[in-house]
Amino acid sequence: MHIQTSKTKKHGTHGSYSKGCRCEPCTVAHREYTRNRLRVHRRAKQGIGPAPEPQFIPADDARNHLRYLKKKGFGTSAVAKQSGVSRNILLDIRSGKQKTCARKTERRIMNVRADMFLPNHYVDSTYANMLLEEMKDAGYSLAEINKFLGNKFPGQKVITGDSIRYWKMKKIEKLHLSLLRRPLLDEKPRIKRKGQIFP
Ligand SMILES: [Zn+2]
Repeated sequence: MHIQTSKTKKHGTHGSYSKGCRCEPCTVAHREYTRNRLRVHRRAKQGIGPAPEPQFIPADDARNHLRYLKKKGFGTSAVAKQSGVSRNILLDIRSGKQKTCARKTERRIMNVRADMFLPNHYVDSTYANMLLEEMKDAGYSLAEINKFLGNKFPGQKVITGDSIRYWKMKKIEKLHLSLLRRPLLDEKPRIKRKGQIFP
């Protein structure tokens, strides 16, 4: 029998065997896996064990989570890096082309959180734009906002395109919080804070 071995995959797993590796640890792991599955099915059939867990489950939760991440600015290539799930699978799940997915795949996708991304990653700028508008509506001028953010020119645009670096977005979020939500230390709370400037 021709023996295939994989150099990149982790050995000694059923997954590696099912991808074609026939090295000894993988074969042993596969045999173990099959034996277990058969046992679970047999016990369920005889009515002495729980029904076997389905291997594939509806991908609805994973799809919703991927769409949520997309709204936050994280596309499939960023999620693929974090989750280890291939980008093609992510695209198919998100678009709805793939209706079910492996339990493990779902868990990997659900474990990706928006705060896991690197500061230099680009995110959608819609949210940051909204915060900026709110600050302007509260009476802050562009020059003031630029000054608070540490930008060099008073007239420069804070956000230039559809996307913005994650760290910059966080900075705007922080400024927004300190300008519009946080009462000054020497002032009573619930005071109208329009036009408030940095303490
Ligand atoms: Zn192997």
